[in-house]
Parts: sequence; structure tokens; C-alpha cells
Amino acid sequence: MPFTANRDYKEAPRVVASAAGMYYRDQDGREILDGTAGLWCVPLGHSHPTIVKAVQEAIATLDYAPAFQMGHPAAFELAEQLIDYSGNKFGQVFYTNSGSESVDTAMKMVLAYHRARGEAQRTRFISRERGYHGVGFGGMSLGGLPANRKQFANLLGGVDYLPHTYNLEKNAYSRGIPEYGTHLAEELDRIVALHDVSTIAAVIVEPLSGSAGVILPPKGYLKRLRELCDKHGILLIFDEVITGFGRMATPFASDFFDVTPDLMTTAKGLTNGVVPMGAVFSKAMIYETLLDSPAGIEFFHGYTYSGHPLACAAGLASLKVFKEEKVLEHAQSMTTYWEDALHSLKGLPHVIDLRNVGLIGAIELASIPGKVGARAMAVYKQAFAEGVLIRTTGDIIALSPPLVLEKKHIDDLFGKLADILKKTV
Ligand code: PMP
Repeated sequence: MPFTANRDYKEAPRVVASAAGMYYRDQDGREILDGTAGLWCVPLGHSHPTIVKAVQEAIATLDYAPAFQMGHPAAFELAEQLIDYSGNKFGQVFYTNSGSESVDTAMKMVLAYHRARGEAQRTRFISRERGYHGVGFGGMSLGGLPANRKQFANLLGGVDYLPHTYNLEKNAYSRGIPEYGTHLAEELDRIVALHDVSTIAAVIVEPLSGSAGVILPPKGYLKRLRELCDKHGILLIFDEVITGFGRMATPFASDFFDVTPDLMTTAKGLTNGVVPMGAVFSKAMIYETLLDSPAGIEFFHGYTYSGHPLACAAGLASLKVFKEEKVLEHAQSMTTYWEDALHSLKGLPHVIDLRNVGLIGAIELASIPGKVGARAMAVYKQAFAEGVLIRTTGDIIALSPPLVLEKKHIDDLFGKLADILKKTV
């Protein structure tokens, strides 16, 4: 099983057998409140009838279409609608099948772009400590989570890391975006000077680090990164695989922070998790540069399943639901209640920080000495037993429910977690 301590599964694995709305059900029909929207990928709730119907119709109409040298109507329609959903800040999308593929695709796109401009020497990437950019060799090389890298040699060279912005001393219990740490963006200047700007292809960051345990960017940090990238003529990539599609009650995190990157990697909520799909959004100048390249450079890249008809149908239906059901407005209307409920856990045993933005929450627990992660895992197991699905990274509990949740779900989630924390040793 992926990212799992498989040795824990000598006995029967934990399973869910069906899902609807805010709930999973196990094989015995027991309801489990989904506090994580699957793996951050089900913003609209499970088995949404509009999406189910669209995918059923799609499979009966066109099961598969090659993506090379041809396409199909839904692929182009979805691309148009995605650009529209992005507020027309981007010019094109390139389809992939996952977040990892989106990241590797964006990296290759950046390299092709620079080569097309006659700057093939721009090959270095700058990412951030504690970043997570998927599991391909490209994304893994950019990533900064030790457990994800240390077993695997031969990472890509030419990557430097900005410092992370995690700081419990200064930022604990911030409500929303923390104050301290904006100056950490200035480290970009130091890294650029070290290698000479003419060698640098792009900076890539998650607007907020999700997999590292919800590390929020300090106020003004992303704006400053954008300014420094502009100053140096370096492309900026936001990895919006978890923050895209409404997680912050805006279409993308880039809208929330009012900072537009040159490329944006997405996946997950794009199809509401129903069919695997990712997309790289790129500014029109990247596409145009590649088309106009005097050397005739093409972006020679793609996947058998790029723009799969079922994924496109799920994507179109998801965008329809976002619009028709005013999902972002609903998410926005829940954020204060969410924040208050999360912060009501302050003072409970082991809790050392609470972080939130949009419909994202993190509960950081003090670790048992020498057993990092054990305490949060105990809470995870107990929560599952009591009918709530949460997620853990080390001793940080990450929460990211479907955006369609109501106050009663928030009460249930935090009520159960509070009871469990009171009994946790
Ligand atoms: N980038 C980020 C920021 C992610 O959070 C993830 C997955 N959680 C990925 C990339 C990889 O996505 P996938 O698992 O679909 O390959």
C-alpha cells in the first residue's frame, strides 16, 4: 500500500467501501465523516450525482481518444473552461494524470521554454525545504521531505532550497496567515547570486506546504518571491495540487494571495478525485515562445492518457457544480466558523499549535520523546474507530474537508477530536 507502514497490515487493512456527500462507509455500513476530502481531492463531496452522470454518459459515448496529433471536444471545452475559471490569467493548459506528472511536466516545460529563447543554460531549479512536489524523479528532487527522498539515489542535480517558513516560536496559534518570516523570501537573492542568474530556470513552491503539515506562508512572502523572480527574470511556478479548486475559498491559492505565477501545477480537485487527472496552467507567453522558437523547438512531451475523455467529463461536471452550487461562496461562508472551531482546541492536552486558512486546519501535537508521529497516529486510529477520517504527518493532524460541509459537520469533527485528545496519552 502506498505511503503506508505496510508492516502494520499483517491483519486486515482499514477499508472504506462506499461514499456519498461528506461520508465514507465501511463494509459494515458504518459512517465515517471525511475530514480530509479523500486526499485533499474531493472538494465537492463524494459521488456527486452531476459528476456521476457525466462520467456515465462519457464512457458510453467515447471511451478513449488518442491525445497525440488529435483530440476530442471535451478536452478542448475543458481547457477553455479551466482558463476561464483561472480568471484568464493563463493562456493554456497541458493535461497530465496526477500531481506528480504535473510537476515533472512543468519542469520540462520550463526547460523547453528557456531553450526556445536561446537560454538553454538555464537549468537550475529553486524550491523550498519541506516542500512536497510528488514522487517522480523531478518532483522528488525538488521536494524536501527526508523520508520521501532518502531511500532513492540519483536525484536530479541543480536544485537549491529556500528556507521553510515553519516557526512555532513566533507564529504559534496565528489565526490565518502568520506575520513572522516574510524576510525569508530574500534568501532567493543569495541563491541566485551563488549560481549566477543566467543558470536559473525557475522557482517552485507550494503556496502553502501541505504534506509537510500545513506550513503557511507569512504575510507578503509570496508577493516578495514574485517581485524577486521578476527582478531576476526567473519563472515562478506555484504547485497548487492541493490548494487549487477552492481549498482556500478562492479558485486557486494564487487568487487568495493575489500573486500570479507563470505556471501552475494542479490535479486532485480538478475532477473531484473521480478520475485521475492533472493540468499544468501556463501563461500564454510560454506557449507563444515555444511556437515562435526559431530553432523549431516543440514541447515534445505527453501521456497516453492526457485529456482522457472520462477525466474531461468529470472535470467539466466539477466546474459546473462549482458554479451552479456556488461552492466557493459556501466555503467562504464556513471559514470563520471553521477557524473558531479549530482554535477551540487550544489548551487541550498535547496541543502546541493550531493553524488554519480557508478550509484547511492543522493541529500540531507535542511528540512523545523518541517516537515522532506516534501520538498523532494514535489519534488517527481512534478517530477512525469513532467515525472520523483525519490525516497525519509526523505529529501534525491535517484537516481539509470537502468544501460543501455544514456547521454540524464542523461540530462533529472538532467535538470528536476534542474528546479523543482529552483521553490521549
Ligand atoms: N504536489 C503537491 C503540492 C501535492 O500535495 C501532491 C500530492 N499530495 C503532489 C504534488 C503529487 O500529486 P499525486 O499524488 O497526484 O502525484
